[in-house]
Amino acid sequence: MINQEIAQIFRNIANYLDMEEGQNNFFRIRAFNATADAVENHPEDIASLNIYDLKKIKGVGDSTAKDILEYVKNGVIPYYEELKAKSPVKLEELIKIQGMGPKRIKKLYQELGVTDLVSLKLHAEAGNIAKLDGFGEKSQASIIENLQFAIVNKERTRIDNALLIAEKYIDYLKSKDTNIVQINYGGSLRRRNETVGDIDLLVSSKDPVATSKVFVEYPEIEKVLGNGDTKSSVWLKQKIQVDLRVINDSNFGAALQYFTGSKDHNVRLRKIAISKGLKLSEYGLFRKSNDTLVASKTEKEIYEVLVNNYVEPELREDGNELDLAIDSRLPKLIDLADIKGDLQMHSTHSDGKNTMEEMVLKCIDLGYANMGFTDHFGNLYVANAVKEDGFNAYFDEILALKEKYKDKIKVLAGAEVNVKPNGDLDFTQAYLEKLDFVVASVHSSLKVDLKVATDRYLNVLDNPVVTIIGHPTGRIIGQRPGFEFNYVSVFQKSAEKGIVMEINAHPARQDLPYHLVKSAVKQGCKIQISTDAHSVNDLELMKYGVFVGRKAGLESKNLFNIQKQLP
Ligand SMILES: [Zn+2]
Repeated sequence: MINQEIAQIFRNIANYLDMEEGQNNFFRIRAFNATADAVENHPEDIASLNIYDLKKIKGVGDSTAKDILEYVKNGVIPYYEELKAKSPVKLEELIKIQGMGPKRIKKLYQELGVTDLVSLKLHAEAGNIAKLDGFGEKSQASIIENLQFAIVNKERTRIDNALLIAEKYIDYLKSKDTNIVQINYGGSLRRRNETVGDIDLLVSSKDPVATSKVFVEYPEIEKVLGNGDTKSSVWLKQKIQVDLRVINDSNFGAALQYFTGSKDHNVRLRKIAISKGLKLSEYGLFRKSNDTLVASKTEKEIYEVLVNNYVEPELREDGNELDLAIDSRLPKLIDLADIKGDLQMHSTHSDGKNTMEEMVLKCIDLGYANMGFTDHFGNLYVANAVKEDGFNAYFDEILALKEKYKDKIKVLAGAEVNVKPNGDLDFTQAYLEKLDFVVASVHSSLKVDLKVATDRYLNVLDNPVVTIIGHPTGRIIGQRPGFEFNYVSVFQKSAEKGIVMEINAHPARQDLPYHLVKSAVKQGCKIQISTDAHSVNDLELMKYGVFVGRKAGLESKNLFNIQKQLP
């Protein structure tokens, strides 16, 4: 049930309003709290209700009903996001600490300027909180204790944000310090995991002390956690820890291999080294008998000695990839250049920000051979979906663009059609038959049991207009898990019917996740990577879908090529 989750958001909205204006907002605060109670106490899953049923719940009004639908569909409530962005106080973070309510948070902010976990910790440890009215030594001590737990469990950072932070830091270091010889990031960021705990930077430098000093002078730092000659750690304003290691240039490859992980991968690799009379560490690969160096300068040399072939960072997970390397059966991974088109994007015909023509021009810029519009179709209340009476305007505009740009790109007419709970498409079939392709996506009734979810897909796969299943699990990273279905039977049937599975490249979705992409390919499905762009800028998110594909071991032959299917 999603009820608890949504209730908490309405409660947070009330808390933000309370912090901002308090009594002046009395009635709105009370209304949001009443909605929270109503949602929390409602016996059915709120996610399965439509607008009319929602409004029947006492305490839910027109605008909160719309908020709920928006959350069920996209995992965000825009008004709440605005409040969060506007407020200096990270309420969501602070309220998770046992014993911290909105009143206390407000006081801590007003009296001490506490805005988040880090500043709360600083003030608690300095003894400032005990001095405040209504707090005292005891509650200060319990805040410190509860903080430990919250910091350990702090949220992971999505890969797109982490990548941006790492790249900016690297640019800064390179521009300020000419001693740097090589620099890269390791860890889960380099392995392209969907979220990242912290960022590991590895640097070889002609002057490690000078480099470490430049590292801790980065303007985005909130707190220096440690600063040594070869090892430093900082906490950034962006709420992520960055660790720096300065290493010798001669063993940069060994260190990069070591700090890229994963743990399981490295354990397996070290065992293989031992079986060959070698030992592997962050300093290099050595002969065990006499400690002579075998390889350390590049990862490639190390992998070639141990497992015959270089293993791409994205594949370094459970260790089985090493067997493939030994047998020279590693996949030749796709990269961005293998992407010939984008088959999920939205224009101003539904909930996109840009016109169709603007989207076409951007896709031409990106060098694609084809692109397909997939505005929302069906009775989706929140997405401003195209209805039957809007079909001709939609279709005709695509035809005109198809003709106008035919020498530059193949513009295709598609739709993202909502799948109803029973697996029927929420649009008149005769219209859909006119389109070049159809993406079928589930946007509602996300929390259903396994059988219902499986049957829904098995039914939609029988519809001959369906080309692609969009964002198949419906997950939003960090906000809601995907719904489960019988993956094998759905993938098997898709493969039989020639229906394609999507990797939705949007970093908030990355859906299918890589382990399910592997399973889909194993069953014989083709994969389409699309951005689900709602603006021209979103069209650049393709690389995050390629990351997922690479982690899944995708080769170009596994990618769907729509042009083969078209007349
Ligand atoms: Zn969608």
